[in-house]
Amino acid sequence: MAALLLAGCSSDGADGTGGAGPGAPAGSSSRPAGPTGDATGEPSGRSLPLAGRVVVLDPGHQLGNRNHSAQIRRPVDAGGFEKDCNTTGTASAAGLPEATFTWRVAVAARDRLRALGARVLLTRSSDSDDEWGPCIDERGRIGNPGEPGPTADVRVSIHADGVLAAGARGFHVIRPGRLAGWNDDIAGPSRRLAAALRDALVAAGFDPSTYRGRQGIDVRSDLGTLNHSDVPAVMAELGNMRDRREAAVMAGPGGQGRYARAIAAAVRAYLER
Ligand code: ZN
Repeated sequence: MAALLLAGCSSDGADGTGGAGPGAPAGSSSRPAGPTGDATGEPSGRSLPLAGRVVVLDPGHQLGNRNHSAQIRRPVDAGGFEKDCNTTGTASAAGLPEATFTWRVAVAARDRLRALGARVLLTRSSDSDDEWGPCIDERGRIGNPGEPGPTADVRVSIHADGVLAAGARGFHVIRPGRLAGWNDDIAGPSRRLAAALRDALVAAGFDPSTYRGRQGIDVRSDLGTLNHSDVPAVMAELGNMRDRREAAVMAGPGGQGRYARAIAAAVRAYLER
């Protein structure tokens, strides 16, 4: 595909006005209490909309990948072919690493999803210059049936793009293309998940990509994380960190909170469909 532009991950953007800040209410979970809920006061734990649900959030890359080039270049299986374990990711011109952006968005989204009752598994536990990985295959397996820990209902991998072409901005959501024997079971639900995330990002004020995909959605079969997933999965390139105006949105807590809100809203919309 369009290898010309893909200098690592990068992408999306929106206007620089910012939206709700990180202190905004954690989702509107004020739906009627369920059978086990308290009909008059705060909902009980079991009445929360995502109670019992398990969500994998995969913050792309790791800050310390840049210090562990040998480790992250180790080839791993990416779906019947090999790719590097991981990459460093991109960065904004002002110096914000993609790994740090994805970490901040993932943590904020995790908090919102927890507030809705979900159990959230992060594929890494820090954003540290001393750590590297995990590899893309492990990121795709966490939460799969048969893996240690709970089985996930959904997986969202969070990235940003680093495209240098003028005018390249906006988000795109990547859903897994069909890869026989790898993801046959998740192609359909992942399509619905991708649409839910696209719609939520648009609702949050972000614009679809000017350079990749159709109406904010792309399809790829070359991404190890998506190929290894046995639960519905998408990868979001939330913006183009090389677009100055978009990068400014991505660098601030207001923008990061808005991305997180969209991710949580999309997961909720998909799981409650
Ligand atoms: Zn990336």
